[in-house]
Amino acid sequence: MTKIIINGSKGRMGQALLACATRIPELEVVGAIDHGDDLAKVIARADVVIDFSFHSATLGVAELCAKNKKAIVIGTTGHSAAEKNKITALKSQIPMVVATNFSTGVNTLFWLTRKAAEILGPNFDLEVVEMHHRLKKDAPSGTATTLLEILADVRKLQLEEALRHGRKGIVGERTQNEIGIHAIRGGDVVGDHTVIFANNGERVELTHKASSRDTFANGALRAAQWLVQQKPGLYDMQDVLGLK
Ligand code: NAD
Repeated sequence: MTKIIINGSKGRMGQALLACATRIPELEVVGAIDHGDDLAKVIARADVVIDFSFHSATLGVAELCAKNKKAIVIGTTGHSAAEKNKITALKSQIPMVVATNFSTGVNTLFWLTRKAAEILGPNFDLEVVEMHHRLKKDAPSGTATTLLEILADVRKLQLEEALRHGRKGIVGERTQNEIGIHAIRGGDVVGDHTVIFANNGERVELTHKASSRDTFANGALRAAQWLVQQKPGLYDMQDVLGLK
């Protein structure tokens, strides 16, 4: 039996995690924490904390996990580079899974994106388009950022220099050293991502569309069960799924 605490339990993902966890007999929810609750009071009961809250909350949760030697699954996105570095520095103390997307389909998209970028080569222009519901707070999405990191890695580009966030005004002709990113917000879209590889005469588009948050919740719960068997270290969903 793996004992879990959910941080951000009143949110959209928190609610999906609570609902999905009840359908997995090997899991027991021993705490549901949101704004105003004290994680320190209940953390001793758990094997692993699952964080889907807000970027500024994650470091405090991770530090508490490290202090109490509890594993942590982090699904929250939108961290600054400084926040990310401080969080991942705790990997020598506890096992942690950090993933911008816990769905099996999106992790397949990550794999396919790398392959396609390698096969198609530098003549294909790279653009990423994402769409999410109107209540999403960060942009571009964490998943889109992971896709951009994969593309920049294959092309050997510095991502910050290569990125073009939308385009406006007389921006000039497109160069081979740029990667476009376009964040669309509206309605109740759970999460759509498309990677476009465009050349003269042909175009490849890889698309994933999530229609239920359960796909992320079940992935995060699977990660939690896997993580309690692991040594301290930093893992991602590709490790959990055995895709490496
Ligand atoms: P949401 O706004 O519906 O829920 C966030 C919850 O966290 C809220 O209930 C809020 O009160 C709570 N919260 C905020 N600060 C807190 C704190 N300091 N301590 C405890 N609780 C706190 O958001 P959501 O749609 O559930 O998404 C949550 C996060 O998960 C976002 O960063 C989102 O991008 C990310 N997300 C990740 C994946 C993935 O697969 N990795 C999938 C979906 C969403």
